[in-house]
Amino acid sequence: MPHRSIIEPFRIKSVQSIDLPTVEEREKALRRAGYNLFGLHADEVIIDLLTDSGTGAMSAKQWAGMMIGDESYAGARSFYRFEKAVKEITGYTEVIPTHQGRAAERILFANSVSEGDVVPSNTHFDTTRANVEYQGAEARDLVIAEGTDPSALLPFKGNVDIAALRATIEEVGVDRIPMVMVTVTNNSGGGQPVSLANLREVRRICNEFGLPLILDACRFAENAWFIKLREEGYTDRTPREIAQEMFALADGCTMSAKKDGLANIGGFLALNDGELAAKCRNLLILTEGFPTYGGLAGYDLEAIAVGLNEVLDENYLRYRIRSTEYLAEKVYDAGVPIVRPAGGHAVYLDAKTLLPHIPPGQYPAQALAVELYRNGGVRGVEIGSVMFGRPLPDGSESPAAMELVRLAIPRRTYTQSHIDFVAEVVIDVAMDAGEIGGYRIVEQAPWLRHFTARFEPT
Ligand SMILES: *Cc1c(COP(=O)(O)O)cnc(C)c1O
Repeated sequence: MPHRSIIEPFRIKSVQSIDLPTVEEREKALRRAGYNLFGLHADEVIIDLLTDSGTGAMSAKQWAGMMIGDESYAGARSFYRFEKAVKEITGYTEVIPTHQGRAAERILFANSVSEGDVVPSNTHFDTTRANVEYQGAEARDLVIAEGTDPSALLPFKGNVDIAALRATIEEVGVDRIPMVMVTVTNNSGGGQPVSLANLREVRRICNEFGLPLILDACRFAENAWFIKLREEGYTDRTPREIAQEMFALADGCTMSAKKDGLANIGGFLALNDGELAAKCRNLLILTEGFPTYGGLAGYDLEAIAVGLNEVLDENYLRYRIRSTEYLAEKVYDAGVPIVRPAGGHAVYLDAKTLLPHIPPGQYPAQALAVELYRNGGVRGVEIGSVMFGRPLPDGSESPAAMELVRLAIPRRTYTQSHIDFVAEVVIDVAMDAGEIGGYRIVEQAPWLRHFTARFEPT
């Protein structure tokens, strides 16, 4: 068969116009925002790759589902449709809706994590880490060594380091470990997948020490697709079967429906432990809502119920993973350094390698992110020393391990020509990389400074 492009497996029924600010308008916006892309207004951005969270397009079937949303306070029909969808995929017996993934984390940790505990994971996502630390516990990252090397080419760079997991349990003691977590795919580690073989080994260790295993399942379908493509013995299995096998190895999951729920808001906590679930529901009532809506409208539950099934469609997943890889290939082939292989939901540009003349203290990834916006109105996000740098007693800062700009691709939102445009902007900026200067921070908050800091060119 001749070569054929993998096309978007949908056609467009409703459109939203994109604003096209001029370069002068973008320059003005940058100055007003203090060179922080979080300070931009959406109408100042041409292609918005800030995040893939809640920014995707819903299908006609999801919108149709919203019209039959049942807004009964208790026992809504929509809840039972949502619960059925979650149970069919995860197999877990207790399903608790929440307004986002972080609410599921907070409710779970508040009822199971105590001061002085250690929660191991491959890599904790920021909200997961913050919610573990909020309980006075330590969130410990145990991803394999290659997982933090941008150029190591491995099929499952999100895997847990099994020896390090065993060593952590032996060092800390089982009494101080309330659960083991695995993030699929590993968002903070470049959107890299975890293999079923690795999940099985984690399960074996958990069985040996009697520990529960909880998946951070935000991108479970993308992870299942990588397993189908890359893990021996899974080529002929459906993404749904693979996802079911992943969930069956764990005792529960936290989920943000803003990712692989294909919805704009929502999440859930699903468990097999009925006693723990009862405690979680009590806290849910206090802070989120009654257990059959958990802070969501009935129509949100409908959108998620439909989205959870659409996300496992092979045509969708083939297009989804290919569109990320397509952008990665285009920029890499033009000589732009990136984290390889491409992750599921995003392409990560390696600013440390591209801008060796900018020291970490002048935030090379921030400089690159600003330049992408100035050049082409493309908004990515800095994942480097602005986000992770820590102040030292002498007034300087300890740098982050990597200086990355993440270009996260919203689901079903942009077409191939939008992605081509993004690649053109990235390549254009990279060609004049030597001209890009660094930044200094002139204003910052004590916590999570990357959201609100103001910068000046040095
Ligand atoms: C987004 C995300 C979360 C948190 O979900 P929210 O819906 O943003 O609260 C947790 N873990 C991972 C891996 C995520 O990507």
